[in-house]
Amino acid sequence: MAIRHFRGEYAFLSNFAESMIVVDGLIWGTVEHAFQAAKMLDEANKERIRGAPYPRLAKYLGRTLSPRRTDWEQCKEDIMHQMVTLKFKQNEHLLAKLLSTGTEELVEGNNWHDNIWGDCECPECQNIPGQNLLGKVIMRVRSELTPNQ
Ligand SMILES: [Zn+2]
Repeated sequence: MAIRHFRGEYAFLSNFAESMIVVDGLIWGTVEHAFQAAKMLDEANKERIRGAPYPRLAKYLGRTLSPRRTDWEQCKEDIMHQMVTLKFKQNEHLLAKLLSTGTEELVEGNNWHDNIWGDCECPECQNIPGQNLLGKVIMRVRSELTPNQ
C-alpha cells in the first residue's frame, strides 16, 4: 500500500509542513520557503521569500520573482534532496514519523496538475504518468537516514 496523499497523518511529508530548518545560518519556516528561495540569484528576493507568512506565498514568489538561476532545471532535484534531508535531520520528531512509514511507497497524489514532483489524479491527467520526484527524494532520504541495523 502506497501513501498517496501528504495530508492528514501524512501531512508532515508535504513541503508545506511546518518544519523549521537552518540553511546557511538562516532559519526557514518550511522546505517550500528554502527551496523556492534557492532559485533566486538576488539576496533581496531570497529574503522576501524567507519572510513569506505562509508556504503558498513562498511558492508563488518563487515562480514569479526574477532573476533566477539559469541552471535550475539541472540542479532542482539535488536542492530538493538537500532541503528534505535538512528537514528530517533537524526535526527529530519528523524523522521518527518518516521512519515509521517503513518501506511504503510515497507519492504526492494531487489535484493541481503536478506530474513532475507528484502525480495529479484529475481526469485530464489520468493518462499522464506522474514522475513523483518529491516522493522519490523523500524515499531516498528515508533510506539514507535509516540507522544501520
Ligand atoms: Zn491534473
